[in-house]
Amino acid sequence: MNSRRDFLQKIAASALVMPLMPLAGWAARVNHYDGPVLKVAIMGLGSYGNRVAEAMKACVKAKLTGVISGTPAKIKDWQGRFGIPEKNCYNYDNFDQVKNNPDIDAVYITTPNALHHDQVIRIAAAGKQVICEKPMAVNAKEAQEMIDACKKAGVQLLVGYRMHFEPKTLEIIRMRNNGEFGKIMFFQGQCGFRIGDPTQWRLNKQLACGGAMMDIGIYAVNGARYMVGEEPVWVTAQETKTDPVKFKPGVDETIQFQLGFPGGAVASCLSTYNMNNLDRFFLNGEKGFAELWPSTGYGPIKGRTNKGELTQPHVTHQTVQMEEMAGILLEGKQPTVAVNGEEALKDLKIIDGIYQAAKTGQKVNLHL
Ligand code: NDP
Repeated sequence: MNSRRDFLQKIAASALVMPLMPLAGWAARVNHYDGPVLKVAIMGLGSYGNRVAEAMKACVKAKLTGVISGTPAKIKDWQGRFGIPEKNCYNYDNFDQVKNNPDIDAVYITTPNALHHDQVIRIAAAGKQVICEKPMAVNAKEAQEMIDACKKAGVQLLVGYRMHFEPKTLEIIRMRNNGEFGKIMFFQGQCGFRIGDPTQWRLNKQLACGGAMMDIGIYAVNGARYMVGEEPVWVTAQETKTDPVKFKPGVDETIQFQLGFPGGAVASCLSTYNMNNLDRFFLNGEKGFAELWPSTGYGPIKGRTNKGELTQPHVTHQTVQMEEMAGILLEGKQPTVAVNGEEALKDLKIIDGIYQAAKTGQKVNLHL
């Protein structure tokens, strides 16, 4: 299947080659780094967990030290590939015991969406820092419960918003904050790909708790916020479904949505599992514009503004994300755009609003 995701994975695989260095190279860098290191266990050894683990080989501030998995054969494989000792390996029944493991500071949850809520709460109760993949939760109510549980346990909750550390994205945010585009008037976010295998969890309502919106549309939701630089106050949405067999009730195929911002800007966005060639952000202001295309794939991200092409170098998103998250968790660093549970809660309030607007045909007011 020649899907956008396959295409991105091929590009990303080649992009990974350069930043990834052999363990000897990593060790040499670590030897020159004498600061604190975040010891991370990954939960859910699937496609994205693998990507994060490979990318972390090039980190100096973060190191993979443990795994949590329901598949013993994968645990064996990862132990061999990443040198993980038996005492740092857990399954879904016994992972609360990470509580007593000083080799693990944080757990990075890369399981299907519906599982995040309970897994985050259990990791928080075990007293470990939590990093959770997007969508952090499946609705705003669950997101709030997760935030509350982490607060109560005194641990931080971060979300895998890798674009918040991407250099071209950050340059556009810097230029906007500097007034270089003037008053922001319009954002367009097109996010989608043609999904393959109909049996995968992404098309299973119980595990995905939605469809394209939860998986890829969330990039347009989140991107609208960090590109415009304001929080939306209303949403309208329209859903279309061309294949009700593949996309069962509760699993959205295509949703168009519009967001209104307090400064007068509007966003027009598309989320779909039924089209390729969609990965584009466009921001327009009274004095200039910015375009990212591709905008949220694994890279290289490409961008230009009215002043010319953006030339910031490609970085492996997950390497930089983990390096920066170690800085947040260990050194109290503040990212330019938040990557915490509250940030995810805002996205989920908007997504709740999008589903409500699509269902009722009514404009929904947002209170973020
Ligand atoms: P995969 O299906 O590739 O992996 C998910 C893993 O979760 C499985 O391999 C399995 O690992 C574990 N798991 C536990 N319970 C179940 C279950 N009931 N059904 C299926 N898997 C289960 O998914 P992805 O890695 O693509 O996605 C995981 C999460 O990461 C999602 O929330 C997704 O939205 C997010 N993601 C984020 C991306 C980003 O760019 N930030 C990109 C891709 C995904 P095990 O066998 O070890 O238990």
